[in-house]
Amino acid sequence: MTPALTTIAFDADDTLWHNETFFRLTQERFAALLADYAPRDDLDARLLAAERRNLGHYGFGIKGFVLSMIETAIDITDEKVPARVIRELVDAGRDMLEHPIDLLPEVEDTLRALSGDFRLLIITKGDLLDQERKVAQSGLGDLFDGVEIVSDKTASAYDGIFARHGTRAAQAMMVGNSMKSDVLPVLELGAWGVHVPHGVTWELERAAAPDSHPRFHQVDSLGQVMPLARRLCG
Ligand SMILES: [Mg+2]
Repeated sequence: MTPALTTIAFDADDTLWHNETFFRLTQERFAALLADYAPRDDLDARLLAAERRNLGHYGFGIKGFVLSMIETAIDITDEKVPARVIRELVDAGRDMLEHPIDLLPEVEDTLRALSGDFRLLIITKGDLLDQERKVAQSGLGDLFDGVEIVSDKTASAYDGIFARHGTRAAQAMMVGNSMKSDVLPVLELGAWGVHVPHGVTWELERAAAPDSHPRFHQVDSLGQVMPLARRLCG
């Protein structure tokens, strides 16, 4: 018999509200500022390499992204990057940290409908202050039984969270836009992993879908989580 679903956890960035789009816009600003020093492809590749290299030091989020842009600007200009450019990059990061929350479609209705029947969690990674700010500004915080901001979304991080909130992984579902961070680690634990693709996905969050897995589901939009959850509960 399939254990009942009791807990539904949601990723935040690009699952509940827009995020990656703002990183892309900032990267456009970065590329425009450094257009005289290197071709666009090269700039993008160098920045991505810096982000990958720095993840273990700075973690996920805007602050690490800004430091990686600055480092790439210094490298690509042979240490001649004007201070004005550095200031623009810092300002671009601050703009991102102040950007108002822009909820994705169907989010609020879905969460309100689910909150009566399930324990709801947010599980997100990124800069701590920024993630706290976004949850507060979303106005959705009260619908959740817990908000977990982690440094990385590993299977063991999820395992600890589910245990802390009084559920076994087998009774939990994680919903998110990242196959790599939101779906694959929870499938490994025996939870349901629900992928809601977002049009724009960061290179470092991409992963192939599992071939076939009884607990893997893909939906087109967040609104489909409600009928799916009902179906799984019989
Ligand atoms: Mg996400």
